Amino acid sequence: MPATVLVVEDEYKLRELVRSYLEREGLSVLTTGSGAEAVDLASRAVVDLIVLDLGLPDVPGEEVAREIRRRSDTPIVMLTAKTEQRDRIAGLEIGADDYVTKPFSPKELVLRVQAILRRGAGSAAASGPASYGGGLLVIDEHKRVTTVRAQEVALTPTEWGILVALAAAPGRVFSRLELINKVRGYEFEGYERTVDSHVKNLRRKIERPDVDGAIIDTVVGAGYRFALRRDP
Ligand code: CA
Repeated sequence: MPATVLVVEDEYKLRELVRSYLEREGLSVLTTGSGAEAVDLASRAVVDLIVLDLGLPDVPGEEVAREIRRRSDTPIVMLTAKTEQRDRIAGLEIGADDYVTKPFSPKELVLRVQAILRRGAGSAAASGPASYGGGLLVIDEHKRVTTVRAQEVALTPTEWGILVALAAAPGRVFSRLELINKVRGYEFEGYERTVDSHVKNLRRKIERPDVDGAIIDTVVGAGYRFALRRDP
């Protein structure tokens, strides 16, 4: 079954352009120009990824992203105008996986969409369950499942990628740039805050420092480090 992408963009021409590029790659595409309808569609239809314009006429894109995030971890790629850096950061903090700045090349957008969909699907070479911290955390790359204290935790593709990268080398410090490149698989003109936002969201989902201590350490001036040991 082809993956389904929901394109949310109020500019008709741009929306149809994006649709045609995605369809050319064999993806199934739903479109809407309304933020309210996007939230509705995302909750009713099976959607594998959402391309979301931040500048929508009815509901601000960030609000749409937040609404969608409350109910699902469907990856989101945001479309932003160059002047909207603050919005862009806000969007990433909500949990969007990537953004493309307008004007953008549709080809570039397609590459990013495909990269995220691939990450979501996991790779054939992925390994089975690995347990950390005396069974506190289990990462099953093959099934693409993370559990904390045997409870499954839903992660966005970016959060998942960061966790897998860190856990692959417990104790090793990864710089933010290194993490961005590992997770995205391509050079990314990124802001450090992008990674910080994702790590913050990831921690909120997997950590209870009052009970277990930290799972991810911040190493000031250097980056992040996985704090648990792999179980034998
Ligand atoms: Ca717009």
